[in-house]
Amino acid sequence: MFLLTIRGLARSLPPNNLAHGQSLKNNNREAPSFHRQMEFEYGVLQRLQPGLRRFVCHNPGPFTFKGTNTYVLGEGEVAVVDPGPARGENVARLLSELRGEKVTHILITHAHSDHTGAVAELISRTNAQTYGRPRAEDDPARNAKGPSGSNFVTEVAFDNILSDGGRVRGDGWEVEAVHTPGHAPDHLCFRIQGQKTLLSGDHVMGWNTTVIAPPEGHMGSYIGALERLMDGDETVYYPGHGGAISEPQRFVKALVLHRRWRQGDIAEGLRSGLTTIDQLVPKIYANLQPDLAGAAALAVFAQLELMIEKGLVTTKQPGPISRHQEFVLTGLEGERLAELACPD
Ligand SMILES: [Zn+2]
Repeated sequence: MFLLTIRGLARSLPPNNLAHGQSLKNNNREAPSFHRQMEFEYGVLQRLQPGLRRFVCHNPGPFTFKGTNTYVLGEGEVAVVDPGPARGENVARLLSELRGEKVTHILITHAHSDHTGAVAELISRTNAQTYGRPRAEDDPARNAKGPSGSNFVTEVAFDNILSDGGRVRGDGWEVEAVHTPGHAPDHLCFRIQGQKTLLSGDHVMGWNTTVIAPPEGHMGSYIGALERLMDGDETVYYPGHGGAISEPQRFVKALVLHRRWRQGDIAEGLRSGLTTIDQLVPKIYANLQPDLAGAAALAVFAQLELMIEKGLVTTKQPGPISRHQEFVLTGLEGERLAELACPD
């Protein structure tokens, strides 16, 4: 059951809780400025800028916000990025909006079912070629079920495999794939060439923080992939859920700082004598809604996993790391990290 819980939470947390300053202990620190404004109409392909349109799938929810964003690159002969979930009429409506045009490419940010569930239907209707990054053979999320009982991951047998820096060209558009693991191991962002625009998938979202839930998620990879984006010259990100992100490098930097401060909070909790995740969660997240306790525990576990990898924390018991172990700080470096936490 624990595995199922992870799958259901591995996208993002509802707002006004973990993502926002008011419910955090250290609410005097600047949290990333999340926003929930998004102008759109379901079922309508909306022009965002030359050669880029967005279609919002009708799958709103606590983890998907208004629904999955499907993007269309180019005009005439087009690429569809993330066709969305399997259920509903999304593909039929999208193709109706694309009447007179031809879908030649299907690009995938990552294989979570709210992004890839509709791939099979779109292929059958268009015969387009698929592009993305396959999952590893031993991927632990394979065949795991989400809260609704459906598969959390819907893998795609890609016609074309994209590695980091791989390019895809179509009629009047070109993108560069950027491997951005952390939220999901196969996650790609797409840089639109000549537009200073990044399709950021679930790696960077403006409406809420991304949950990094082991074993699907990996905090060290996530932070590393965020840091790589800071060098980019994009002026806007378009995410997999929610509206556009302006000043994206500044936003990404705030996300990284936010995660570092959280490590400081955990180190401070350990230094004060707490040892388990169950003890740390209420200390770190004040006034947490009970239904978010599981997500908070996973977020703390992901941070502890990274702190163990860095040699800042160790487990009291031998054996593989689990969220039910006891954790302790190791040495001076761990103590120093605790200084990052704000005093109560
Ligand atoms: Zn996702």
